[in-house]
Amino acid sequence: MFSYRHAFHAGNHADVLKHITLLIGLELLKKKETGITLIDTHAGAGIYSLEGDYAIKSGEASEGVLRLASYCTENPNEIPDGVVQYLHEIAHLNHPQSQSIKTYPGSSQLLLQAMRVQDQLKLIELHTTDYPNLVENMTVSQGEYRPKRSVQIFQKDGFAQLKAYLPPPTRRGLCLIDPSYENKDDYQFVLTALKDAIKRFATGAYFIWYPILQRRDATELPHQLAEFCKDHHLPYLQAELQIKSQILTEGLAASGMWVINPPWQLKEQLALCLPFLVKALGQDDYSRYELTAND
Ligand code: SAM
Repeated sequence: MFSYRHAFHAGNHADVLKHITLLIGLELLKKKETGITLIDTHAGAGIYSLEGDYAIKSGEASEGVLRLASYCTENPNEIPDGVVQYLHEIAHLNHPQSQSIKTYPGSSQLLLQAMRVQDQLKLIELHTTDYPNLVENMTVSQGEYRPKRSVQIFQKDGFAQLKAYLPPPTRRGLCLIDPSYENKDDYQFVLTALKDAIKRFATGAYFIWYPILQRRDATELPHQLAEFCKDHHLPYLQAELQIKSQILTEGLAASGMWVINPPWQLKEQLALCLPFLVKALGQDDYSRYELTAND
């Protein structure tokens, strides 16, 4: 089994970019009443302690959500709506008077919190430890926050499974594809899963996270996604965030979100959030954002 555990990385800058983009996208889709099927192909454990051994050892949240929260406290009048919403969802799990964020919601918990009664949530996680953790976390959360929500959790291969849930009954869907890329074949699996998914459900909103690394398969993925979208006549949006020099760091300095069929106004909202995130999280002159679309 893979050694990747998201608990090491929870609340890092990549999670900040991914989760802000995801929440804004869902909020925009929710402007229509019809129910949405939400699919998280690589769900993780759902809830993470930022005081646990994993998080403390990596210290990644201090370069991500913790740094963002401090910056927002110091600059309360500048905060864009998408960041306000993100911090609001995080506050659900943290004591209101607590100065720091001790518990971090992963994508599945955020989707659970933000979904409506008419929406469905399908979570897929393969890991032998994170799957039971996810089931436990979601069971507690579901009981506490949203007793009537429709949530299904599967211990399966998210890449292979995605197509099984498409098209959704209401023909409205948001799919998050968020592999760890620990397995180098993940880059190709993303493309294969997307090809199968688009064949069945060409109008779904697909949110794909990718790392920005000096490796050939990593640098090729955005080009392959652009080619894929061009071949299939699909609108897309690409948002990237870099917080420091890649050369001077051993860890991840930058990542991106690729959104196929981006919800209306996602680009406009990200255009407000991304420069703010560079100011809040940027550590040196290499800090930057990119926001492009093909429409
Ligand atoms: N989406 C989560 C979030 O934002 O909070 C983080 C997910 S983490 C980057 C990737 C997860 O995928 C890990 O928990 C890993 O165990 C799981 N995983 C790895 N290969 C998988 C596969 N083929 N299908 C489903 N889950 C997989």
